[in-house]
This record gives sequence, C-alpha cells and structure tokens, in this order.
Amino acid sequence: MASAPFVELAAPNGIKYAQPTGLFIDNEFILSVNGESIDSIDPATEEKIVAVQAAGEADVDIAVKAAHKALKDPSWKLLPASDRGALLYKLADLIQENREVFATIDAWDNGKTYADALETDLTEAVTVIRYYAGWADKTFGQTINTNHQKFAYTIRQPIGVVGQIIPWNYPLSMATWKLGPAIACGNTVVLKAAEQTPLSILFLGTLIKKAGFPPGVVNFINGIGAVAGSALVSHALVDKVAFTGSTATARAIMGTAAKTLKNISLETGGKSPLIVFEDADIEQAVKWSHLGIMSNQGQICTATSRILVHEQVYDEFLAQFLERTKTTSKVGHQWDKDTYQGPQVSKAQYERVLEYVKIGKGEGATLSSGGEPIKVDDKDKGFYVSPTIFTDVLPTMRIWQEEIFGPVVVIAKFTEEQQAVDLANSTTYGLGAALFTEKVEKAHRVAAEIEAGMVWVNSSQDCDPRVPFGGVKQSGIGRELGEAGLEAYSQIKAVHVNLGNRL
Ligand code: ADP
Repeated sequence: MASAPFVELAAPNGIKYAQPTGLFIDNEFILSVNGESIDSIDPATEEKIVAVQAAGEADVDIAVKAAHKALKDPSWKLLPASDRGALLYKLADLIQENREVFATIDAWDNGKTYADALETDLTEAVTVIRYYAGWADKTFGQTINTNHQKFAYTIRQPIGVVGQIIPWNYPLSMATWKLGPAIACGNTVVLKAAEQTPLSILFLGTLIKKAGFPPGVVNFINGIGAVAGSALVSHALVDKVAFTGSTATARAIMGTAAKTLKNISLETGGKSPLIVFEDADIEQAVKWSHLGIMSNQGQICTATSRILVHEQVYDEFLAQFLERTKTTSKVGHQWDKDTYQGPQVSKAQYERVLEYVKIGKGEGATLSSGGEPIKVDDKDKGFYVSPTIFTDVLPTMRIWQEEIFGPVVVIAKFTEEQQAVDLANSTTYGLGAALFTEKVEKAHRVAAEIEAGMVWVNSSQDCDPRVPFGGVKQSGIGRELGEAGLEAYSQIKAVHVNLGNRL
C-alpha cells in the first residue's frame, strides 16, 4: 500500500509541525484505494488547511481486517493486561508532551479557542487515558459456588473489533474517551473522526506508533459519514459500534447495526434544562448557566440550552444573564487571548444556527439578544454568530424542543417546583440537567425526578473520567467514562465446572 505524505504546516499561532495526511492502518499512513480526499477548513478564514485521505468502503475493509488480524495476534491477544495499561500510560505521556501541537490542531480545525483546547480538551484527553490505563489490569470476573459438586466462574473478555465514530466538537478528547476503555479491555479499534475535524487523530496516530502499540490494534480513518461511517457499521467483522453524534445519525446507525446484531453504545443529542429556583445564589446561577450554553461555541451535547427560572427571580436573573453575555462572550479569532467564542465549526453549522434564529422569531419568541452573523475583522470571513438569547418561549416551539448545537439559549419562567420538573422533562432528550437551589432537600428531590443521565447541582458541565457519562430517552444508550465505561467494551463469559457429579 502506498504511503501518504506528511505535510509541514505552520499554524496561525506560530506552531509548526508535520501533519500526517493518510489513513492510519497497521501503524502506517497510507493512501486511500480510490485516491479520494477531504479538505480540512479553518472556520475562521474559510481557507483550506490541508487535504487528508478519505476512506471508501474498500479502505474500511482494509482497516477492519487489520484490526481483526491484530485481535488474534499473540502480540496483542496474549499481552498481559498490565502491559496494555503501560501502553496507555505511555500514550498519555506522549499526548502530554505534545499538548501545544494538539491544541493548535483542534483550534485550527474546529474553531475552538486555543486556550480552551489547551486547558480543557488536552487536560481531559490525558487524564482519561491515564484513568483507563489504571483499569487495564483491574477488571475481574467472579466465582459462583452453585453447589458442593459444581461451581461456575465468569471471565471478562474483550468484545473484539470495535468501530468507533466520533463528532467534531471535541476531536481529540472524544477519541480518548473511546480509545481508553476499548484498549484497557483488550479490544482492537477502527476509529473514524468527523469529516469537519480530521487532523488531530492522524497526529495521534504518530504517537500510537511511537508508544509501541502492535500494528493493527489502533487504526484511524477519516471519511464521509454516509460512506466510511456506514461501511464501518455494516462490516461483518466489526463486533461493536460506539458512536457519539446526532440523534438522527444514531438512528441510522442502529438500523444498520441491527442487520448483524452488533453491540452498540450511542451518545447522542440533548436539549438539557437548567433550573434556577427562587432560593438560588443568582450570581452563581448566571455564571454557570452562561458557561453551560456559551462555552465551546455552544457546540456541546450537554449544553444547558433551556433555562427555567422561578418567576420571583426571573427579572433579576435575566438582567444579569444579558449583562454577563455582553461582557463575557467576546466573539473573535480562536487564537486571541480575549476571545470567549470562536467561529462555529462549519458553514453548515453557522447556517443552521441562523436558521434556528429565524425559526424562533417566526414562532413568536422574543429575541432578547444576538442572533446575528458577526464580522470579527475587515476580511469578512469566518462562521461567526453572536450569542443568542430567546425569551417568551413555549414548550411547543421548535427552539425549545430541538437541539441547535450553537450559542443559542431559551429562557422561560415557572412558578411551582412540579411545573419546573415537568418543563425540564418536556423534550424527547435526556442527557444532562442542572439545578440551582440552596435547599439541600429540594436539590436531591428534583435531581431524582429529572429525566437525564447526569444532573449538576449548583454547577454545569462538570465532567470527570471517574464519573459515568451518558443519556436516557433519545439521548443515548449505554455509558462512557468511569467503571461503567468498561462494560461497554467487555463481555462476560460464564464457565460451568463439574467437580465430580457423574451421570
Ligand atoms: P453532525 O450532524 O453534528 O455533524 P453527525 O451525527 O452527522 O453529527 O456526525 C457524527 C459522526 O457520525 C461523524 O463522524 C460523521 O461522519 C458520522 N456519520 C454521519 N453519518 C453517518 C452514517 N450514516 N453512518 C455512520 N456514521 C455517520
């Protein structure tokens, strides 16, 4: 297979590095079979950064077969679990050593601020890989004494070849969330990044090789979702699919995976509520709720995009929220130190946000702030939108029900606790939820009633490798992170042993 070149790149922040452009299969960067490529675009300038190889069905087949071969190879199959952990520790150290390069790549490719990529995404990537490195030799089965002549035991085994499909909002850290537990449990992996952000996984490929993973254990491909993603999900040698992305794509994946009855984990969309009770610390509620929807350009699956405020504190909250948005949400280039919000990831996302602004206005909601395209310099380029706040919203409106995936929040009023819970639960989603109260009984009572996989009390967006992450209702199936994340990548075998019960 012909090898694909590395391209020397100089990023706008002055960092220079060699960007691999191939498909990373069997620890080599190769050209795609049909020579197709996709362009990575800087959403700030709308200019091409570089083109990378795009996988077609034949390339997916090559990658999956490499992963399947590696699964059976003694160099992986018989590798002691503690050595799998050691590989992950080594990988984490290498990511840490290359933090600035990774943060540069993801800021460039995605539009997120360099500062955020460095502080949030990179810290998370390293800690998640280290967390699962520690688990590699700590997953055990059980012994079950069935009667005095027989017993049974269980062993935890890898599922096999895992196809992983990730989104564009946290390119590197989403890859680490999926790789860490899959490798800790002894699987082999073919991971596909989103076509909007193909670059950081390829750089990660260089570190997979350097860390010493046997060829074929970890393979990275780029490509169009409906082509490469779909081929991965339908491949007969893929035993499990783990996906993070939109609910619509999850439905398609579930349908395709059904044909070969694959094990699946899905982390999908959300329209997460944030409730501010009358006894809340309003200043804190404003700060967290602003972060909960406006950070990462609002491109967060757990974004608290619906804020419900008790009528007694509504005016005070709204005034402070508008003020905080005005003073904090500075829109600008992803490299500028004072930028809070960079460009949306792509033209399609930028247009989607503006379309929802139009829909909200058409539905009769009040546009209290923002909702406009923004120019950040005289070049008139980039997918920038102003942070947007809608009030006078109703649960029947599309802007209340549908995930926008941008810096757009709807703010509504309530009077009773039960009404707040009902409003919080009034969508098909159930990913995150936040609530603000100084009353401890109320906090736990409401946390139990909200239909969500995760609830934040007096906070928003907390995420820790030790704590399970995932959704209920149409926000997903299964959990990532924490000990629960291991269950997605291992299966239990029961062995019955007869000690002498002769027939
Ligand atoms: P978004 O709409 O936010 O771009 P998607 O759910 O479309 O989110 O994309 C998330 C990931 O799913 C990406 O890696 C994308 O390429 C992939 N994808 C999109 N369509 C399919 C599909 N039909 N089968 C498998 N993967 C897909």
